Amino acid sequence: MITGKTVVAGVVGHPVSHSMSPRLHNAWLAAAGIDGVYVPFAPGAHGFQRLVEGFRGGAIRGVNVTLPFKEQALKLADRRTDLAERAAAANLLLFEPDGRILADNTDGVGLMRAFALQAPKWSADRGPVTVVGAGGAARGAVAALLAAGAPKVFVVNRTLEKAEAIAQALGPQVKPLPLLHAVGALRDSTAVINATSAGVGAGTGLDLPLEATPDGCVVMDMFYKPVVTPFLEQAQGLGRPIVDGLQMLIGQAEPSFEAFFGAWPPAEVDVRALALEAIGQ
Ligand code: NDP
Repeated sequence: MITGKTVVAGVVGHPVSHSMSPRLHNAWLAAAGIDGVYVPFAPGAHGFQRLVEGFRGGAIRGVNVTLPFKEQALKLADRRTDLAERAAAANLLLFEPDGRILADNTDGVGLMRAFALQAPKWSADRGPVTVVGAGGAARGAVAALLAAGAPKVFVVNRTLEKAEAIAQALGPQVKPLPLLHAVGALRDSTAVINATSAGVGAGTGLDLPLEATPDGCVVMDMFYKPVVTPFLEQAQGLGRPIVDGLQMLIGQAEPSFEAFFGAWPPAEVDVRALALEAIGQ
């Protein structure tokens, strides 16, 4: 039931109708008995700034931000967490009562939570990690991996300049490489993360010589439709442990929920099953 005290939060994107976040957050709210609601906002391609400015002063508690607004979200904020700053993107905005906007990034937290759950023997400080892709998701992943203690992160990208820009921003532990030279990075890595959009839409997915990875190298795909992508299938065929993008999505939603509603999501809700149902699996 919506009351006079209902705390409102939501997700902003363009498009936003595919977002799974409302399902997850509202299931958690119901189970926890919290007087809150989580709704989608679709401001159109050019309406993000107007929407955010309208929420200043705490009209609602906060929003998650998805494509294509994450970089703009960071710029519109008055205060930024270190992780959001280093990721150069925000997926979470909180509207403080004093009118200020706080930007955070929980995507990196989600990535690390997914590894902790699905590959518990792995840890970032064990050795180099390869991140494939150099867009917003890749940069957030590199920032999170370095924060978690990774000694070296190879950023392998089709367009080398974008990988070099990440190295420039995040420091000498980041080694940029062109996609064609991926083998050298894969051979040394304790984990490989696909942060490209190669599998989106009609894309054929990422073609990478995963056989070059050492035994036990964890393979992760941020893309999660289907949950076990052809890239993860290839990894499974080689006997490599896998981590999926759906767990990352859930992993970023959990700290977001706590930021909005002041409590960690109740463990008894099987949000993974809800999400799988939403994507028809
Ligand atoms: P961007 O558009 O910012 O970046 C896309 C990257 O993919 C670029 O580095 C691009 O290379 C590369 N790329 C695209 N097509 C190909 C191809 N055919 N072969 C090789 N490389 C290719 O996207 P984002 O960083 O925002 O998102 C990347 C992926 O991560 C998406 O699939 C997104 O859905 C997913 N994601 C998942 C999340 C989760 O919670 N599971 C959270 C955030 C993102 P180039 O620079 O050469 O163009």
